[in-house]
This record gives sequence, C-alpha cells and structure tokens, in this order.
Amino acid sequence: MALLASVAAVDARTWALPRIREPVLRDLELVVDLGDRIGSARWWRGLATLGLLVAGTVSVGLSVPRLPAGSGEVLTGPLLEERRALRIGALADGSPHGRVVAPGPAAVRLSEIPERPRIELVARVGAGGSLEAALRRAGVGREDLDAILSLAAGAGAPRALPAGTELALVLGRRETRSVPRPVESLAFRAAFDLRLAFTRGEGGLAVERIPIAVDSTPVRIQGEVGRSLHVALRAAGVPAAVIADYVRQLGHVVDIQREVRGRDRFDLIVAHRQAETGEREWGHLLYAGLVDGPRSVALMRFGPKGEFYRENGESARRGLIRTPVEGARLSSNFGMRFHPILGYSRMHQGIDFAAPTGAPVLASAGGKVVAAGWAGGYGNLVAVQHGRNMVTRYAHLSRIHVKVGDSVSQGQRIGAVGSTGLSTGPHLHYEVWVDGKPVNPAQARYLSGNQLEGAELQRFRAELARIRQIARPLS
Ligand SMILES: [Zn+2]
Repeated sequence: MALLASVAAVDARTWALPRIREPVLRDLELVVDLGDRIGSARWWRGLATLGLLVAGTVSVGLSVPRLPAGSGEVLTGPLLEERRALRIGALADGSPHGRVVAPGPAAVRLSEIPERPRIELVARVGAGGSLEAALRRAGVGREDLDAILSLAAGAGAPRALPAGTELALVLGRRETRSVPRPVESLAFRAAFDLRLAFTRGEGGLAVERIPIAVDSTPVRIQGEVGRSLHVALRAAGVPAAVIADYVRQLGHVVDIQREVRGRDRFDLIVAHRQAETGEREWGHLLYAGLVDGPRSVALMRFGPKGEFYRENGESARRGLIRTPVEGARLSSNFGMRFHPILGYSRMHQGIDFAAPTGAPVLASAGGKVVAAGWAGGYGNLVAVQHGRNMVTRYAHLSRIHVKVGDSVSQGQRIGAVGSTGLSTGPHLHYEVWVDGKPVNPAQARYLSGNQLEGAELQRFRAELARIRQIARPLS
C-alpha cells in the first residue's frame, strides 16, 4: 500500500503542469462604456480610444482612390434608339430585340411565301385512341385518310390505338394551296407485336407489315415475405393489380394476417409479354404459391372463368374466409377458457377477433341468412347457413346489414364490429357449427366449390407442370 502511495506522489510531481503566466495587459479594458462613471480616468481613456479610432478610419478613407462613376454622357435621338435596340429586355414589356433593317436595292418582294417541299412530323394519337382523328389533325386529306384506314384494317391493326402512339408522318409537295398535301409515308406501331409502314408508290399508298418479335413466356417471381408481404412483392417488381389478385386468391386458403410469416416464401407466375423493342406488358396472375415448409399452398388459374384451383383439383374458393373481419387480430382461441365477465371457466365455442368498432364483418362463405338480430349474450348476431349442415355465426355486432332470408356471397359485408351483449370491448365473436355442433373455425372446411375430375383434372395437372417448367425469372 505504501509503495502504491509513493508511486502516486511521483506521478503527481512528474505530470504536474507548469503554471501559465498571467498576461500583463489582462486588466486593460479597451471597450469602455462611455455612459458609466463619466469624468473618471477610465472614461477619459475610453474617449481617447474612440477618438483615435474615428481619426484612423477617416484618414484611411481619405487615402482610398475614388472609383470612376458613369461617363456622364447623355444619349439622345438616333443614338438612343440604337442603344435601345441592343439592350436585352423582356419581350412582354415590349422590348425590341435587334433592329429592323430596311431592304436594300437587291431585295425583290415575293408575291407569296414559297411552301416547304415536304413536311416530316410526328403526330400523336389522342385520348380516344382514334388513328383517323390524329391523322386529320396532322393535315392528311380525306382520300389518303380512307386509303390508310382501309389498308390498316386489312393488315390486322386494331381500330383503336393506345393514346400517345406516335405516328411518323411525311407529307409531300402539293400543286396548289387549296388541296391537302399527299402522304408520302407513314409508320406507327399498330399493336404490341406489329408495326405498319405505309409508302406511296406507283399505284398509290401501300402498306407493309413489320412484325415485332414478342417473348410471351410467363415470369416467375419468388422471394421471402419478410416484414410485409405487400412491400416484398412490390420490391420484387410485381404490379399492384397482380398483388391484389395474389392476396385475394391466397386469402381463400390461408389466413394471410396470421399465418404468413417472414420466413415464408411467395411464389407467383404471371402472364407477361416483352417486345424485342423492350416494352413489357403484364397479364393475369397464373399461379399463386406460398412455400412454408410442410404447409405449402399452390393455386393455379384454370378454366374459362379464371377460377383458381389447388393442386388436387379443389377450387380455392372452397374454403371459408379465415378472418371474416377486415384488419383484425385473433384475440381469443377456440376451446376451454376463463370467461372474463362470467368469472368461471367454460367452453369458448368460437374465436374472437379484436377489431375497432365499425370494422366490416364479412360472410366467410356464400349462403343464406338465418338469423339477424338481438340474441341475448351474443348481442347483435348474424347467422349464415352454408349448404345443408354448416352455419357461421357473427356476434357482438354494432350494426347489421342483412335480414333473415337474404342470400349473401363470400366476402359480402353483413355487419360491423361492436361490443353488444356480454362483451368487454369491441370484437367479433365468430362461430362455425357443423351438424349442430360448434367446431374450431380454424379447422373448419366448407365443401361446396368446384372439384376438377377425370380428364379435366388431367389437363389441369399438365398445364400446372407446363407453366412451372416454362416460367422464367423476371429480367
Ligand atoms: Zn368469443
């Protein structure tokens, strides 16, 4: 301990800093308040300092050479006009730019201004998509217009073109000003995969079809869901309309709110066309998949109605909507639980979804309304009968939008979330009954949709294998 203390003492001596010497002029105050202690020595000194400063400034100012000002010349008459013509000013203020020089003796006045021999221009198709209107606006005469329209129709061009389509037009020389210029050539993209080129030859206008190579291989987009399925799909380049379709189709078989998690992978195949000129066009969602370990989902569009089917040929719409209320979270599961109001354990015959009052409640499948009104502890209740043996019940509603006997379709609004009856806060109590007994809604399945069978199922499977094989990643 003693050794440590001595080491510390040595340290203190070695490392002590030398005292900094105080500056001599520390107390000399140059800025003196002249309103304070008038007449004192300090005041006089301040006054002298001020005098010195003023004198110094004046003497410096006198020695700076004077800058030259304007020449003092005053412009008048023609000289003034000359200068005015040269100045730059706003045209809106009537500023004359430059000077008009009178023609010299060599100049000859023409009786009329000569026309340009040909006019090259790019016309654009307007909002209505009319080729005729765009050409007429560009100055094409009736005769040429009729010829072009009939040639275009013969070459397989659609009647309406996308607004903004560019028409490369060349108008030729005319005999007199009273007739429209003849069309020398015209070229435009008539369709995603077709260009038309019109040229004037010996026998009038002729059209040439120039096909544009289009790659119509569907694209496959896969990725991890991460924090938000929607954000991940947008980031992967999926158009908004396709995202909406994907979420809707998947929603028939998976509870997207609760069951889709960050590690899951989405898997979409979308109809897609890409022209050799680079433009791309998105089509329908063809395949909606979700890869989640053992519980994977694969749905494919099939048939004239564009319905989605599972791999086993079951319609995707077969299931019940898993969360029959928008923007909800599961707050209480099916099974035995302690009742918050009654104060003892009993069977919870349904599941609860916490949601704000007024949130729309949806029919989880199509069916017929069999109850719509007050039902004691259930508060305002709607019950919908599906097929012969299944009923879904929606309790504690704040509003009811249907009446007994109404037919409802899957996803239709039947009421709004509330807290009526025996309820501690706004939520939807949702029950599914099969053959007169409550079942766990998370496991209930409603069998009424289409089922592909036989040859149709074979075709479906072949098509599914085909698009999975040909689809390629988005480039
Ligand atoms: Zn409940």
